[in-house]
Amino acid sequence: MSGRKNKEYRPVMITDPTLSSTHPKPSAPKATKVIRITPRPALPIPQSGPVTRAPRPDGLPGTRWIDRLGRPLTDLRISVTDHCNFRCRYCMPKEKYAQNHNFLAMTELLTFDEILRVSRIAVANGIEKIRLTGGEPLLRKGIENLVAQLAALRTPAGKPIDLAMTTNGSLLIKKAQALKDAGLGRITVSLDGIDEDIFQSFNDVGYPAAKVLEAIDFARQVGFKVKVNTVVKKGVNEGEILKICEVFRGTGVTPRFIEYMDVGNANDWRMDEVVPSREVVARIAQRWPVESLSPTAPGETAARWRYLDGGGEFGVISSVTRAFCRTCSRVRLSMEGRLYLCLFASIGCDLRTMLRGGCTDSELETAIGRIWSAREDRYSELRSMGAAPSRQKVEMNYIGG
Ligand code: SAM
Ligand code: SF4
Ligand code: SF4
Repeated sequence: MSGRKNKEYRPVMITDPTLSSTHPKPSAPKATKVIRITPRPALPIPQSGPVTRAPRPDGLPGTRWIDRLGRPLTDLRISVTDHCNFRCRYCMPKEKYAQNHNFLAMTELLTFDEILRVSRIAVANGIEKIRLTGGEPLLRKGIENLVAQLAALRTPAGKPIDLAMTTNGSLLIKKAQALKDAGLGRITVSLDGIDEDIFQSFNDVGYPAAKVLEAIDFARQVGFKVKVNTVVKKGVNEGEILKICEVFRGTGVTPRFIEYMDVGNANDWRMDEVVPSREVVARIAQRWPVESLSPTAPGETAARWRYLDGGGEFGVISSVTRAFCRTCSRVRLSMEGRLYLCLFASIGCDLRTMLRGGCTDSELETAIGRIWSAREDRYSELRSMGAAPSRQKVEMNYIGG
């Protein structure tokens, strides 16, 4: 490992009162007042239109909402904060997310009760998986309390939901035990390199890879099954692929190599910066013989591979070169209560106004059902046909990964 030392870590300034008091105290510069962000445009809640449902294919009780392309809604991603203490170049580049960036104020965020209400209705209507994300989800104060409430939800068949979180790992040592006790099922930790210079140039706040590795180890010790997300950028961290495999082989931790995506507009994405997943697999296969595995569930984003020598598994997420829109069953709820039907959407439906306007559960259920039933989104498929709509897209830290 090369270069930078832990003491160089300079967390970016965080001033929002919703943020965890466990967040490392920033050193400089002085706090800047956080002002309300300019309101994002929102789609109104549809007042008419069909709600399309289908029974579950496995015959268990309950129905699921079905969109116009026949895709069921089974997966909810909840972004709990737009704040982050990293400035990953592909997500929140410093030039665009300065220390005085206008993040959302606490009153703009959905409360845990509001998040829980939407989740409860979603689970009653077919959602089986919930992933908490952000921004950095562990910066949201008391997140373990939300986890505990979500973990208590049951599907119509009486089963617990698959509850997961994606985190940059910087607060995981402080939070892992509380999250485990609260009932979080799985954790994905993002780590784009093992080499300190490379990783710190990715997160751009000098946060050490060694500390993320320590957090992953700790999460395993408290009993979590851990996956690792690595975004691969051409000419930047391809050399980290084998190092990451090496570190996690035989540990039960599953690395997943993600194609760099054109989410949002802040990262100035270019196609020639994408490393196709087939190249990632070829690189790994040259070192260790591998074979592909079948998906564990329909709609799974990662293609699974295993080492023939028993070293475990890894995955590749080919969001750019092999669009998986046909099976996309995910909806995203932003921290201010907008529902987005695609990671590359530009506008979401404003559930918060409904929630705060005294709607009934039945009205909320119909609204979400109508929104999903009208869905036709398939951005990545259109991109691969050269027909992606050119528009201002919502940013990754707002919508979650
Ligand atoms: N802050 C947390 C983290 O980094 O794990 C959760 C939110 S982050 C937006 C979720 C995931 O999206 C991370 O694994 C991150 O690497 C990935 N991501 C962010 N921007 C991306 C991009 N442009 N292309 C591909 N993946 C991206
Ligand atoms: Fe923060 Fe995660 Fe985005 Fe990196 S990828 S800037 S850690 S939200
Ligand atoms: Fe789903 Fe949109 Fe991604 Fe296609 S591009 S897989 S519809 S989130």
